[in-house]
Amino acid sequence: MKKLRLWVKLLFLFLIVGGTYLGVKSLKKENISEESKSVLKENNIPLEKYSKTLEFVLDQNLYNEKYLDQYRDIEYSDKNNFKDVINIFLDKGYKGKEINYIMNLSNKNIDKLKNVDYIDIKDYYSFKNFDVNNVNRYNLYREKHSKYELKDIVTYVNIKLDLPVYTDTLEAVDPSDLLVLVNKYNSLPKNYKPSGMEQAAGHYGNNVPMRKEAKEALEKLQESVKKEIGITLLPTTAYRDYNFQNTLYTGYVSKHGKEKADTYSARPGYSDHQTGLAIDLKNPAIKTNVRLNDSDYEWLHNNAYRFGFIIRFPKGKEFITGYQFENWHIRYVGLDVAKIIYENDLTLEEYIDLYVTEY
Ligand SMILES: [Zn+2]
Repeated sequence: MKKLRLWVKLLFLFLIVGGTYLGVKSLKKENISEESKSVLKENNIPLEKYSKTLEFVLDQNLYNEKYLDQYRDIEYSDKNNFKDVINIFLDKGYKGKEINYIMNLSNKNIDKLKNVDYIDIKDYYSFKNFDVNNVNRYNLYREKHSKYELKDIVTYVNIKLDLPVYTDTLEAVDPSDLLVLVNKYNSLPKNYKPSGMEQAAGHYGNNVPMRKEAKEALEKLQESVKKEIGITLLPTTAYRDYNFQNTLYTGYVSKHGKEKADTYSARPGYSDHQTGLAIDLKNPAIKTNVRLNDSDYEWLHNNAYRFGFIIRFPKGKEFITGYQFENWHIRYVGLDVAKIIYENDLTLEEYIDLYVTEY
């Protein structure tokens, strides 16, 4: 009796599962409208080739028999540019799956891709800082630096680490932006001087000019470092104009040669100090040329972000910033950005590429 019941249960189960399966299957077939069926028939396309994308291309008069198998791999999208993308990129030799990658790109990248012959983007398309224009450079850089992760290859090439310093340089469009990037590939206009600067009391008894935002943040930092570890931190220099940087750099070059000078001094127009947001600090209790003790830096490294500052030339990132580690040089970027940079162990270069630049 018990065995029989089991059989009955199994039979029921079988009927339910089977019935559902058939139901779904017939429903799926019903999804192809009679109209589409007849269009497929007119074009001699077997029913099993049907896909929403196929229906779309037929409807839009984009159908081309040689792409029949590709259409099935292309996920239908209701984005405006879907028609355009299918139309242009299948002809360029992209396969159906690659069309899906392209649909994930920004409009800016799609426009760039339209202007070039087929390129293989499958390794790169998913990075949000992927730049179509840089694919060849990514590939070359990868060959030379196989130890780097792909995501880093993309970032490093975007910030031009594959190019010699002071080549392909760009001048800042908005020099007063708090996030303005100044390095060996990005300059400030020669005449740029931040407006409304204020003076902070300096280590040498001098007045140190810097932007108001930086000064206000510095005062809070000074107050906290005093309270928390009992030291004083004073600025030695902050804003430096083009001409002063020129004098400095020229002096270093005649002393150490250009190559050496470039590792620790910026060329005029390429100095973070010209932004008015960079500050060099010193603990005046140290009577030598040393600016900070290890414990001073330990505090600065872990707390500067609380006041909107970053360590601009961090240790271990020399190949990115292009400068030797400077434990004393802080740069104001604002609270939110400083926190992200600190928590993710980034440089300003990486932050701009990952969070600001639109590709
Ligand atoms: Zn500095």
